[in-house]
Order: sequence, then structure tokens, then C-alpha cells
Amino acid sequence: MTSPILDFLRRLHAELTDLRDGEVATYIPELGRADPEWFGICVVTAGGHVYEIGQTDIEFTIQSISKPFVYGLALEDNGREDVLAKVGVEPSGDAFNSISLEPGTGRPLNPMINAGAIATASLVPGETALSRQRRLLHGFSSFAGRPLAIDETVYNSESETGHRNRAIGHMLRNFGILTEAPDPTVELYFQQCSISVTCRDLGVMAATLANRGVNPLTAKQAVRGEYVADMLSVMNSCGMYDWAGEWIYKVGMPAKSGVSGGILAVLPGQLGIGVFSPRLDSHGNSVRGIKVCEALSQRLDLHMFNRRGSRQGAIRLHFTGAKVNSRRVRSSTEAATLQRHGHRIQVVQLQGNMTFATTEAVAHLVAERHDDLDYLVLDFKHVLSINDTAARLVYELATQLQAEGRHVLFTRSDRVPLLARVFRHKLGTDFEERFISFEEEDPALEWCEERVLAARGAPIPDQKPPRLVDIDLLRGLTGEELDIFGDHLERQQFAEHDLIIQVGEEAGELFILFEGRVSVFVGSENVQRRRLATFSPGMVFGEMSMIDRSPRSATIQADSPVVCRVLTREAFDRLGVEHPSIKIKLLENLSQALSRKLRKANLELSVFD
Ligand code: GLN
Repeated sequence: MTSPILDFLRRLHAELTDLRDGEVATYIPELGRADPEWFGICVVTAGGHVYEIGQTDIEFTIQSISKPFVYGLALEDNGREDVLAKVGVEPSGDAFNSISLEPGTGRPLNPMINAGAIATASLVPGETALSRQRRLLHGFSSFAGRPLAIDETVYNSESETGHRNRAIGHMLRNFGILTEAPDPTVELYFQQCSISVTCRDLGVMAATLANRGVNPLTAKQAVRGEYVADMLSVMNSCGMYDWAGEWIYKVGMPAKSGVSGGILAVLPGQLGIGVFSPRLDSHGNSVRGIKVCEALSQRLDLHMFNRRGSRQGAIRLHFTGAKVNSRRVRSSTEAATLQRHGHRIQVVQLQGNMTFATTEAVAHLVAERHDDLDYLVLDFKHVLSINDTAARLVYELATQLQAEGRHVLFTRSDRVPLLARVFRHKLGTDFEERFISFEEEDPALEWCEERVLAARGAPIPDQKPPRLVDIDLLRGLTGEELDIFGDHLERQQFAEHDLIIQVGEEAGELFILFEGRVSVFVGSENVQRRRLATFSPGMVFGEMSMIDRSPRSATIQADSPVVCRVLTREAFDRLGVEHPSIKIKLLENLSQALSRKLRKANLELSVFD
């Protein structure tokens, strides 16, 4: 595969391979067996694209990179308050294994130094050592998107030599931060550090954090979204130990390093980075790992404080019912009414991630159009997500409008379940009545149009069969001509769901709808069928093939029991011979109707341009 992104990583990898500064950690004897030349880089986007180069498949122990993840699990299992009671969130500026606790409370300063990580490990629930270990592995595996295991050799090696961490455990017990014998918790801590991962795993785990806790490869939630900011915050301030300030200044991404030589960095909302190279600097951070992250940040402009922010608001498209109409085909009088009063229907197509910053634009638009608005249709079809603030903003907007007697309709709100939840929560039993939702924009628009038309005194359609004289196609015909024309028609009847016209068929007739409703569809049964238009009595369909004599271009189906009067082609031709003036008037009306349709289509196109 060729990719400019992969090429870039390949060059970076080659550039930094010559960097041989630093030492492989040996204080855990087993770690000393790592090959100092190992070097892998993996970048995973929040959308789930993986770019990897070098030794991205070699397994190594995760070590301290486990700390933010156990912190996330502890938050999920205990809640924020209980976790904060045991561990602070203040950077210590000390080395990872420093023996420092908050004066007075004895609370470790933060969960990224060993004291804080051991206190955090004590919060992992489980009756037995094995069940707690399972909880850990299950949590980590969701982040990596594959089953992870503990490297028993490294675990034993650390357990045999981890006297300093045991001392920290006992100190925590002394201050009442650990409430039971410290040893099992310290062992669990050693186990979490000994979970085997690859550089690729680190990239995926980082991307899961970038994607607010949802693993972009498996689409599974690894940790509740609300705790991701907690995890990233402590990584940001404390993740690189006594080098955290310098790191955030230069690289600008929350990150965590481990003594095996891994670094995991996260650009929230965008991507995750995993790097692996075992040689460490004096702070215990991978030398090449740091260089890779610095270079990625600078060359790809990833520093999180160097953002312009997306100025693209949540509004994709805004139009009124005067310019775009539902697919319900209207008589010329109805169409004229809609053109005059349709601006009272405002349709707003929303898009992207709806947050306060993007949704503000919707509130602004509604305020601006306020005087002109009786109906607001909010279409969520193109929305990716909505947060609580934005959902509440939409709620406030809707209730204000409703209090003034205006209508708010939602379409495709199934894309943002949170929205209905907020409304339901606030409205209680009023929900059904006040949360008017449609599966698509088209019927919502039709709903509004019907009301605008009714308010302007348009006759309610579907009630009685039209008289020939009221039919647009027959405008200008004299009474006598109408009688003659009527004699040329044949009555045809269809049941609900009958196919009246099928795409591809030879065309033999033109239909005047007298009773019931029909809809025009394009697309076959298997491909998605899409409604193009709905006709009500008095309208004519099937006329195009009468004019150009080509096969049917769409399918027409009866929405209800239907009665039509049909003009066959022979009858049409006969009319031309016997009563040319009638045929001329018909053709005139047909061409007027066609040019009206074309104008309408052009107007709609201009909206979408
Ligand atoms: N298990 C290691 C320790 O506590 C983890 C340290 C690290 O990666 N910085 O010593």
C-alpha cells in the first residue's frame, strides 16, 4: 500500500534509527533482556486507520503505561469521589518511584507516580486475586481490541525485586490509604505492569482514548466516555513524571511512558500514537519515543493548544418551505400558496458533532428568523454526535418556540438518542405530544405544508373526486370539449399497494387520479426505494411517456384504493384527428406543467448548491 502518511512515518523511523542514546532499564532484571535496537511507531486515527512502521508486533510489558488505564477502571468501578479520596491529581515533579505523599492526608499526589498507582490498584474490585486480575485484563483487552495476557516471567522478576514498591505499599497502609494488607495490591500492581502489549496495541489504546473511550477498530466502549477526560488530564499533568512540563510545552499531547520503552500519546478527538524503543533517558522515558512524538507534533502540527477550532457550525443547510417542498405534488393553487407563505417553514439540516460551540449557530439562526417562523424542522440525518449541553440547548430552543405557539419537528433523531432522552426526562408525560419526530425530512415538510395550506384556507384534499373543470390538465377547455374529452376516458381501479406503472414498461396511457393517493418511486426493491412524489386527486401522472413515447422511468404505486380515468394513446391520437383544438389545449397545459416542474427543480437545486 502506498500512503503519504506511511511514507512520512517510514522516513521518521529511518531518521531516528541512528539515535542510540540512553540505556535499557535493568532494575527489573527481566527487562534487561530487551534488544536496544527495537523500534516501532504506530499512529491510529480516531476513525480507525492504522499506520505502523518498524517493530510494531514485538511484545513487551506495558509497565507504567498501565497506570492511566487502571485509573480509568477504578473510576468506572468506584466513581470519581471515592477515587479522589484516595489519590490526588496534583503533579509531583518527582520521579516515578518517589516516596512522597500529600502532607496531612497521606494521599499520593497523583495516580501516575507509583504510590498513586498502587493506591489506584487497590480500588480494582474483586473477591479474589484472580478475579481482580481478570477485571484488569478484561479492561485492558477492550482498549487494545484483542485479548491481552500477563508476561509471567517479567511479573516474577519484578515481584522478586520490587522492594521499593512494597515499601510504598506499607507506607500507604500506614496512612490508611490502603485499608487491607498491602501485599496483594502491590502484586496486582506488578501484574498490571506486566501485561504484554505491542506497539500497535499502544496505538489502538491511545486512539480509543482519542475517540472518547470507544475503540475505533471494534467500535466497543472500553471505558465510560465521561472518565476519559480524567484519564487524559492526569496523563497531561503527570504522565511524563518530572519531565511533564517540558513534554506538554514541546509536544502538546497527554502521554504516558513506561520503563520498557513504550510511549503512548493522545490527541483528543483525532488520533493516538504508540512508540516503542527500549533505551531510556534519565527520567525513564524512551529516548527515541520522545523524539518521535516531538517530530510528529511539530511536523504534523499536532500540539493541542495550537488549534484554530472548527468554525464549521452545526448547520449544514438552511432553507424555507418557499423554496424546497415535500415530494407531495401540489395543484397550481396549492403550489402558489406555498410559494407565498412557505417561508414560515424553516428547515435546518444539522451536521457533525453538536456541542455548545457548534450548536450556538442554530440558536442564533432561530433568533434571527424568529418573526418569520411558524414551523422549525431540525434534521439530524448528518449529525455524528450530540453532547448533553447541545441537547439541552435544543430543548430550551424548542420549548421557547412551543410556548409561543410555534411548532418544532425533529427528523432522524434516532441518530442522537440522547436528544429524545433529554426531552423525555424534562417533559415526562408530555413527551409524546411535544417531541414531534419523523423518520425523514420529507414527511415532516409535508406535515408543515398541510398546516400552512389549511391555515390559508386551502381546501382539504382527498375529500371528494374532482370535477373535470377543476383539473389543471384540462384548463381552458369549453364545457362541450370537456364532455368530449370525458367520453375518451376509461375508468380503472386499483387496490392499495397495486403497482400502477412499472419502471421500464412500454407506456400506453396517461392517468388522471380521481380517488386515493399514489406515490412515485425510483430504485428497485433491493436497492433502496426512494419516494419521488406523491399525487392526490386531480393530478395527472404517466404523461411524460405519452409525450416522448419512451418506456416508463419510475414506478407508481397505489398508497390507498385508487380510482383513475385513463386516456390511452389511441384515444389521444384519435382526439388529435377528430378534435385538434382539444389536443392543442392539452399539450399546452402539459408543457406548462412541465416547465413549472423544471423551474421548481432549478430553484431547489440553487438551495443545495
Ligand atoms: N513496574 C515498574 C515500577 O513500578 C513501572 C515503572 C515505570 O514504567 N516507570 O517500577
